[in-house]
Amino acid sequence: MSLPTNHRTSHSKSRGLKKPLVCPYCQYSFPLTWRQYWAAPLGGYRCSQCGKVSHVKANSLWVWTTIITGVMVSGITSFTLALYIFNNLWIGTLFFLIGGFGVGILIDQWMDGHLRHLEPR
Ligand SMILES: [Zn+2]
Repeated sequence: MSLPTNHRTSHSKSRGLKKPLVCPYCQYSFPLTWRQYWAAPLGGYRCSQCGKVSHVKANSLWVWTTIITGVMVSGITSFTLALYIFNNLWIGTLFFLIGGFGVGILIDQWMDGHLRHLEPR
């Protein structure tokens, strides 16, 4: 179980493939944490280096398509499973909302941390 790429990851503090956000003012890069994500419901992030607020670039259509598709697929899957297990339409609807929102937030947070760029406000 010894991988030849170990020397690359041992020096890096960032885990996995997570790319940091880059501040457009001072070029300081910082990782997007869940805490920052929740503190910025409208997509505004405060740079921990210079303190200026920047916001994520407007989403393109395919980003929204991906999010909506993910929400629908996971929502309908949760709904069908809950309906099958509990045989109750209300519990099914509840699962639809939980599954849909859960996946929607996960995709949205991932997009913010990986694909979107910060721009000055
Ligand atoms: Zn900055």
